[in-house]
Amino acid sequence: MSYDLVVIGAGSGGVRAARIAAGHGAKVAIVEEFRVGGTCVIRGCVPKKLLIYGAHFAEDIEDAARFGWDIPERKFHWETLRDNVLAEVDRLEGLYRQTLANNDVDIFEARGVLKGDGKVELSTGETIEGKKILIAVGARPNMPEIEGIEHAISSNEVFHLEKLPKRVAIAGGGYIANEFAGIFNELGARVCIINRSDQILRGYDEQVRDRLLQLSLTKGIVFHFNTTFERIEKQEDGSLKLIMNGADDMVVDQLLFATGRKPNIEGLGLEDAGVEIEDGAIKVDDYSKTSADNVWAVGDVTDRIQLTPVAIREGHAFADTEFGGMDRKASHDCVPNAVFSHPPIAAVGLTESQARQKFGNEVKTYTSDFRAMKNVLADRNERSLYKLVVNPLNDKVVGIHMIGPEAPEILQAAAIAVKAGLTKAQFDDTVALHPTMAEELVLMR
Ligand code: NDP
Repeated sequence: MSYDLVVIGAGSGGVRAARIAAGHGAKVAIVEEFRVGGTCVIRGCVPKKLLIYGAHFAEDIEDAARFGWDIPERKFHWETLRDNVLAEVDRLEGLYRQTLANNDVDIFEARGVLKGDGKVELSTGETIEGKKILIAVGARPNMPEIEGIEHAISSNEVFHLEKLPKRVAIAGGGYIANEFAGIFNELGARVCIINRSDQILRGYDEQVRDRLLQLSLTKGIVFHFNTTFERIEKQEDGSLKLIMNGADDMVVDQLLFATGRKPNIEGLGLEDAGVEIEDGAIKVDDYSKTSADNVWAVGDVTDRIQLTPVAIREGHAFADTEFGGMDRKASHDCVPNAVFSHPPIAAVGLTESQARQKFGNEVKTYTSDFRAMKNVLADRNERSLYKLVVNPLNDKVVGIHMIGPEAPEILQAAAIAVKAGLTKAQFDDTVALHPTMAEELVLMR
């Protein structure tokens, strides 16, 4: 069978590219060996965010007392949350399949391997052909080589746990580690983060990271820094003994590895097809074109920015350019991002130290360190921190960094201002919306 476009991988980037290309009139096939929706929908952003909501009720129920609510019994059922979340994932997968069907995209449920000259061999034995090929196969959890690592889980398995573990160790100090530390901690588990370096969330603003660390410690999460694994042993009762370098050995019920994600470049026939690899990822140009004729790649497999909305942009720009007669590149500049920790972090643009490197030491920063009024009445000693980074040469706000309730919801709108290059004076010119947390963004002097 022959197509204008064959997409390998039905995740965020692949599905968007397939749908848009089909909308431009292309005959499109998509090849997927697992489930339609990709990491984000099936075992990433979506189920994770739902767990975050579920976990946050722990604090809400506690705080409710100060608002007059008497909730006599608090009981949490992991199975209910897990099953409802997984059912929602099934529903969303159905919607993704429906979207592809509505756009006349043929779905092949198989693994695809490039054979050169536009040919893609499927694990079902069929071979299909595409005038153009898009690789959108994503990434997978990086599981370091440690004796006994097979006893640990990754973010792939964490959504399916049979029961809620009482003691959880999480390896890594990045997005997934901090998000799941928050989830398990709120749900009542004893949680520790084990990190090889002495800092969490490398790349985020220092003050914001520090605030998360302080708040996490206050909430009872334990941190072991500069600590590595010697080996992991499974004990007779099913628990895991962690033999550590840099910390005492410990026994836990569940060990989650969240030590980054590796592009899925193996077993795809990339070499045969002349697709070059650089630093473990598919090398692409600004149009997501690989080194091979008629082969493009988008999303995590290219390891530019491993975020769903970025993959979607890349897939969309590719389809518009190649099938819609447009000239579109996905912008990787000023991409807002968030960590759905408890409380969440959100950021866009340059950190203070990045701005100093770029514009010199005259860079101006403005911070607001405050307690949200809801937390004040709840008697919850949890302070938010908002920070603006300003280019001294033209007064433009080049970065916003926030930690506090709803920070990601607030930052999405504020990111428009940073992307548009608005100045601090224009922020100040905007009247506050009172009483909100977001108003702090226009009140920093
Ligand atoms: P991150 O890159 O955020 O963090 C990886 C952590 O693991 C770092 O602390 C790193 O330490 C450590 N690490 C890396 N390699 C090793 C190793 N071999 N041994 C021990 N420690 C190691 O990765 P995550 O796994 O948390 O998330 C993967 C990606 O998924 C993120 O980069 C992000 O793009 C995406 N994601 C986004 C989310 C969001 O937008 N909210 C949520 C979840 C994931 P060091 O700092 O020393 O390198």
